[in-house]
Amino acid sequence: MTVLYVVATPIGNLEDISERARRILSEVDHIAAEDTRHTGKLLAHLGISKPVSSYHDHNEAQASQKLIDLINAGTSVALVSDAGTPLISDPGYRLIKLARERGLQVIPVPGPSALVTALSVAGLPSDQFTFHGFLPAKTRARCDLFQKLLNATGTQIFYESPHRVVASIHDLASVFGENRLLVVAREMTKTFEQITYGSIFETLRMIESGELKIKGEFVLLLEGQMAFDSRLDEDLILTELLAELPVSKVAEITARLTGKPRKLLYKRALVLKGVNNGDAGATS
Ligand code: SAM
Repeated sequence: MTVLYVVATPIGNLEDISERARRILSEVDHIAAEDTRHTGKLLAHLGISKPVSSYHDHNEAQASQKLIDLINAGTSVALVSDAGTPLISDPGYRLIKLARERGLQVIPVPGPSALVTALSVAGLPSDQFTFHGFLPAKTRARCDLFQKLLNATGTQIFYESPHRVVASIHDLASVFGENRLLVVAREMTKTFEQITYGSIFETLRMIESGELKIKGEFVLLLEGQMAFDSRLDEDLILTELLAELPVSKVAEITARLTGKPRKLLYKRALVLKGVNNGDAGATS
């Protein structure tokens, strides 16, 4: 059977393996894995014993050819990465490209990916988004990238390591200002899962206070310019009305004008009025 399966695996919680992924992994003749020891643990958990070879950034060209030869010889192969969906900031592109060029059948076995998992709970617009993979390691390159994204309309999504995440959020602040919304999704599906939602300013405060822990794996999701602008319009209406009317009336009128929930606008009006807490106005 000349088939290459691309199989997604959990991003933390092992219960997130799909029934189909489990079945395919137990049925294929061979598994190509980013890290054979890491995948060995998953297979042991699933009670599967199989030949596993390594496929990673440093042997991609050579390993791809070997795997294609195996498939051509009638061996069914599954590609997995350490976590989530292969090829999403993970190895596999060369293999899939070669398989396509050779006319082999490539079958997706979908499952978790940190990118989509984070977007699904972020509370940021999900109709348009751009995924940038890992942020550059150096401040200069990060800021250059952010400059290019200043007017990007959709939600901007980045992967980041715990060693650089604080520096990256400071860089976000220096290019985008402190008022854009930033969602930080940390250790999703794991014991210490944490998902914060607030302006860049509020996020930096959560880091300073230790409320947001800098440990584990991170996805950063930044509000795009369009959503930011529409929030600004909303703030403008709220601020104008607050000068004349009580908060509840302000929320009611703004809800009518914008179609946004009155409760949410009431909370925001309190923040703008500086009632919620002393310096909350700094986030507006
Ligand atoms: N292929 C994976 C996927 O589909 O999401 C991504 C692999 S990439 C090498 C690893 C990065 O993904 C981490 O550094 C982090 O940015 C993100 N990531 C993976 N698992 C995560 C989790 N459970 N919580 C938060 N971020 C995660």
